[in-house]
Amino acid sequence: MDFVSGLCCRECGRTYPVEALHVCDFCFGPLEVTYDYERIAATTSRQRIESGPRSIWRYADLLPVADAAPVDLGAGFTPLVRADRLAAELGLGELWIKDDTANPTGSFKDRVVSVALTKARQLGFKIAACASTGNLANSVAAHAARAGMDSVVLIPHDLERAKITMTAVYGGRVVAVEGSYDDVNRLCAELTSEQPDWAFVNVNIRTYYSEGSKTLAFEVAEQLGWEAPDHVVVPIGSGSQLTKVAKGFAELARVGLLDRPPNVRVSGAQAEGCAPVATAFAEGTDVIRPVKPDTVAKSLAIGNPADGWYALDTVRSSGGACAAVNDEEILEGIRLLARTEGIFAETAGGVTIATLAKLAAAGVVRPDERVVAMVTGHGLKTVEALAGSVGPTVTIAPTLAAFNEALESGIDLPSTASPRSAA
Ligand SMILES: *Cc1c(COP(=O)(O)O)cnc(C)c1O
Ligand SMILES: [Zn+2]
Repeated sequence: MDFVSGLCCRECGRTYPVEALHVCDFCFGPLEVTYDYERIAATTSRQRIESGPRSIWRYADLLPVADAAPVDLGAGFTPLVRADRLAAELGLGELWIKDDTANPTGSFKDRVVSVALTKARQLGFKIAACASTGNLANSVAAHAARAGMDSVVLIPHDLERAKITMTAVYGGRVVAVEGSYDDVNRLCAELTSEQPDWAFVNVNIRTYYSEGSKTLAFEVAEQLGWEAPDHVVVPIGSGSQLTKVAKGFAELARVGLLDRPPNVRVSGAQAEGCAPVATAFAEGTDVIRPVKPDTVAKSLAIGNPADGWYALDTVRSSGGACAAVNDEEILEGIRLLARTEGIFAETAGGVTIATLAKLAAAGVVRPDERVVAMVTGHGLKTVEALAGSVGPTVTIAPTLAAFNEALESGIDLPSTASPRSAA
């Protein structure tokens, strides 16, 4: 038995049974999973969670599929790393990196896909599908393979090579579309009515899919000793992750798992080349104007974000901020995180770190706060973004003479004392 009480329209509040529904018949508003929190509170406990699996499934009581056998590659339970060296560079105090590069297919999308395909299988779907900016494609193809389901993923044709290879290798069908993500997404919305037997994880299963992002908040709180942080910085693509991180902290409090009521400021990070939410925040409007993306951060390149307004509302009502950074700042964000903390992030992680730096410089993220930055994807997925900006210090012939010559002509080594003479 799970603890879901139904689906509820986020706009008009009408309720629906638990089916493959994602929009309200009445007002076309998005549907949200609702739970029986009293029953969850009576059942769950820190101890029950702590003795659960080392994955997102330790929080099954708060997911919409507590009663199903999970489609599971081990998503979640990723490191929360104290980042003192990065904090010092940014003038911050207690800073943590949620290192979601450590997921099975290298991004946080494994959290949402594991939940979505578990629900899809339970609802009787045999074919997994999605519209993807890259990481979702990787994760859907991998989880479908694991579940013995067929998969069809649709991607913009100009994605990074690693993301295309990492999707195709799992044996599903990959459809490269000559268009942007927004074109792909529109096509998938049309396909959902043509192909009612396909589980489009981020279209007709989206209501369940998006719940997987709450586990980022659950893990952060558990890893901080069952306390919420003061401020989280979250990248925004569709805006779903950001809204669900906020929901996750609120739910933990609601079912009695936190000692102190959470008061988490949630800030959003976007790329300047695709910043519809950051622009609306800066202008102080409620209107998210769609844009045509042009940014190195392809995983965030959604010009018309499905949950953009909800993300904006979450940022504002939590007392957070939203900012955008340009491509050069994104690459510097990647290099800064790598050189200070040893974590190699993809371009979306560069967006988060560069935005964190910008908000810290502006005094919005403060040194007296306990801050968590969500680093959501692995750098090996977007190596071409760094081509030309990092590479060998020097290239030499394989001889000692060549090496010594390179040393003399100025490779900058920290110390020239040899270990033998040092003794
Ligand atoms: C998809 C994605 C995001 C954005 O998540 P949304 O829920 O679409 O806002 C952030 N980081 C990475 C690495 C992603 O793949
Ligand atoms: Zn409605």
